[in-house]
Amino acid sequence: MAKKPELTIEERLQALHNLQVIDTDLKEIEILRGSLPEEVRDLEDVIEGLNTRIERMTNGLNESKADITAQNNRIKESETLIERYKRQLDEVRNNREFESLNKQITLESLEAKLSLKKIREIEGSLEAKEEAINKVKERMTSRQGDLDRKRADLEEIMSKTDEDEKKLLRKRERAVKKVDARLLKGYDRIRTGYRNGLSVVTVERDACGGCFGKIPPQTRLEISQANKIIVCEHCGRLLVNDVIAGIAAPEPAKAKK
Ligand SMILES: [Zn+2]
Repeated sequence: MAKKPELTIEERLQALHNLQVIDTDLKEIEILRGSLPEEVRDLEDVIEGLNTRIERMTNGLNESKADITAQNNRIKESETLIERYKRQLDEVRNNREFESLNKQITLESLEAKLSLKKIREIEGSLEAKEEAINKVKERMTSRQGDLDRKRADLEEIMSKTDEDEKKLLRKRERAVKKVDARLLKGYDRIRTGYRNGLSVVTVERDACGGCFGKIPPQTRLEISQANKIIVCEHCGRLLVNDVIAGIAAPEPAKAKK
């Protein structure tokens, strides 16, 4: 059985760094889409809320209109009754009947007046109600415009990034196979544990590129030699040198083999 050739520490670090580059690109796509799906959902909620409000307000308006109809019917009823009582007045036989009919007539005219007063009141509020509904409708139209734009943006980003994401994921599949299984575990744990998704970092200005904690000179030397796995004592991120990170050319002295 042919055994896989043992990778040098430098090669292992290189493989991990390659994976980190892919994961950082994937993270960027995630950030790019980041807020848009949420913003679209938020706007959909807002519009749904406004719709419910318009519905409720319209129901209120229709109820007011129905109230006016009801009060108008009530007035007609009173008028009919008053007419009937007046006809009956011609046929009264005694004072008691006369008084009783007159009392009814007074009562019904009072009822009619009351209904008329209610109608005026309701009518007075109709305009304000209609105006309020129109305002909410205006707001909804404007929010709907926002939603349409954001939806279009999201679709565009999705269509643009979808292909890149697929490519990166295929690339990641290949890259991950080259990474030492034990190192991968720690790599994933740290990468998902930090918001910036960085697990493999370089030394920048004598400090860890992930947490900016100071790196002692001896450790920096070991990092540059790349024959040991070195993690930041402050944050646990894996530290690689600039050559592995591809931001510096290998030193002539190192190119001995
Ligand atoms: Zn650190």
